[in-house]
Amino acid sequence: MADMNKKIPYKIYLTEDEMPKQWYNLRADMKNKPAPLLNPGTLKPLTAEELAPIFCDELIAQELDDTTAYFDIPEEIFEYYKTYRPAPLMRAYNLEKALGTPAKIYYKFEGNNTSGSHKLNSALAQAYYAKKQGLKGVTTETGAGQWGTALSMACAYFDLDCKVYMVKVSYEQKPFRREVMKTYGASVTPSPSTTTAIGRKILEDHPGTTGSLGCAISEAVEVATTQEGYRYVLGSVLNQVLLHQSIIGLEAKAALDKYEITPDIIIGCAGGGSNLGGLIAPFMGEKLRGEKDYRIIAVEPASCPSFTRGKFAYDFCDTGMICPLAKMYTLGSGFIPSPNHAGGLRFHGMSSTLSQLYHDGLMEAVSVEQTSVFEAAEQFARTEGILPAPESSHAIRAAIDEALKCKESGEEKTILFGLTGTGYFDMVAYEKFHDGEMSDYIPTDEDLAAGFAGIPKFPGNEI
Ligand SMILES: *Cc1c(COP(=O)(O)O)cnc(C)c1O
Repeated sequence: MADMNKKIPYKIYLTEDEMPKQWYNLRADMKNKPAPLLNPGTLKPLTAEELAPIFCDELIAQELDDTTAYFDIPEEIFEYYKTYRPAPLMRAYNLEKALGTPAKIYYKFEGNNTSGSHKLNSALAQAYYAKKQGLKGVTTETGAGQWGTALSMACAYFDLDCKVYMVKVSYEQKPFRREVMKTYGASVTPSPSTTTAIGRKILEDHPGTTGSLGCAISEAVEVATTQEGYRYVLGSVLNQVLLHQSIIGLEAKAALDKYEITPDIIIGCAGGGSNLGGLIAPFMGEKLRGEKDYRIIAVEPASCPSFTRGKFAYDFCDTGMICPLAKMYTLGSGFIPSPNHAGGLRFHGMSSTLSQLYHDGLMEAVSVEQTSVFEAAEQFARTEGILPAPESSHAIRAAIDEALKCKESGEEKTILFGLTGTGYFDMVAYEKFHDGEMSDYIPTDEDLAAGFAGIPKFPGNEI
């Protein structure tokens, strides 16, 4: 068996010619389509016309299209993809050995670009379509900073203005992230800020708040809809983002196919769901079409447990309640994770597509506590060499746990997980872990009830 294994290299690369030339739209193969975005005023599905002041036109078309299976990747985007893709598919031989597991572990590594994450895959697409529409610039929010960095890079490449609202706690804890964004020409404002009406209101209602992604989204949307020539772009959650991120799964599958490897278990961390949705896309497509079966596991923090403890309901995507309503697993748009939560993945909701798949029993979800996530991160760094992002380390935790189960049962399962990025800008969190100052705050049912109370009530949306 060991000899068979050795035939598979540590890194499986595709050539440029073997790279996927199209994105895959998972929704095309779903029988139960994700519920449409609703206009919060009328509670009717949003039309392209209504979305036009917020998003770029071509991105709206992608957002609303749940029947076209494949979209050509425009040449201009593909050219930039080639500077950092294909991303390697790695065989975690060293981790397997350290664990003493018969499981075979593979990971798709998306951290090989300056943003340090998979987010550049969608940032490039979104900046490209904004430029093509003749816009001046785009606005966005960023939490840990990877999305803001990715978008800054993409805007620099396509010569667009980039205004980033950065969750205040991250702005203060991650000054280097901020400066990287400025290096690429973006303006960066800590959120909530006094530069927007919604920011001023949030500050009035919650003085001293350290911010949340939801607040920052509200601010970025307000600026995009009130300044001419700007649109809002979002780095996760939306269908269009999952579409762009399908490049992750398509490449991973092409690399596995080269060696006739079929994963049994596919694991990804879930914040808003974009890397997971992208990684699983072609595999879930096979599952939906009845061609193959896989176990698919979403991993989320126990401190922000949208899938495992949230409600499946229409909710706002932002704290300011100005964004469309999306049907998703949610903790309520007013939910703000405990400030000692250092591992990212702090969004209150989840992609509608993944929510529907989870609701239909096509995938599983687990929640993990942050100290165990950092233990896994450290074990991974020491064996595989890559310093993982805390977000990615949620997937590492679950992959190790599955591999350890194989050790007990003696099963030689093949595990694929998404290693979404690197953790160089997360050393404050690592420091807390090393100094024993990290705790595992898990919200109580009462904490969650307060968030659920903010979910809008209307007929058909009972929780
Ligand atoms: C943003 C981010 C995530 C989580 O976002 P998803 O949309 O759920 O993929 C995970 N890992 C890294 C490194 C990130 O930057």
